[in-house]
Amino acid sequence: MWVIILLLQSMVNSNLLVGSQIPVLCYHNLEATGPGNNLYIDAASFRRQLQSLHDSGYRTPDPIQLINGADFPPKPIIITFDDSHAAHFKTAAPILETTGFKGIFFVMTVTIGKKGYLSAEEIKSMHKRGHWIGSHTWDHPHITGNQGIPDAINQLSKSKSTLERITGIPVIYFAYPYGIWNETIVTQVKEAGYKAAFQLTGKKMSVSPGFTVRRLLVNGSWSGPHLIHVMKETFN
Ligand SMILES: [Zn+2]
Repeated sequence: MWVIILLLQSMVNSNLLVGSQIPVLCYHNLEATGPGNNLYIDAASFRRQLQSLHDSGYRTPDPIQLINGADFPPKPIIITFDDSHAAHFKTAAPILETTGFKGIFFVMTVTIGKKGYLSAEEIKSMHKRGHWIGSHTWDHPHITGNQGIPDAINQLSKSKSTLERITGIPVIYFAYPYGIWNETIVTQVKEAGYKAAFQLTGKKMSVSPGFTVRRLLVNGSWSGPHLIHVMKETFN
């Protein structure tokens, strides 16, 4: 009997962490000069937030292990960055590294090499330093209603293969533009070969939690302790 109880307990534990319950943070630009908001944070505030997370015991293991409910440390977290800003290489990656974290960087492939955005060399460098590179489509289309992503070949498959040519490994993570998803889009993302996909703070899909992973948009004005407080409220 106790074997069955242990088995049930381990199933419950891993199900709790599948998909939506892992704390997942979402950052955008790190070049704020004024007060931070949901899309901007300055480097010093970013460093303070990460230091608080590290001092509180949070760690960033391989995201796919967390999403699939495999072994995880006591306080796992996933830290993600959208929209391929140049500051992700210049500012975010070095601060992640000095505070002991790895990030997932979601790239719109149309921006690669453009002024203010990540170059192919920078993307490759971040991959080699242990960060993960994901696709954020080709050019960030806006999707309305129940339609799928238009031009899925370019937006999903070619953006994936472009990033795979740069990193030399399969690109398995996808972030929905504006966090918008529906069943059609989830199917398209799966068919393109991704293994996990990230939204923002919407509801999760019960049958495919790994393709509707919820994220917290971090406000750049939050202190580290306040960020941890909001994380606990959001993901509990
Ligand atoms: Zn975006």
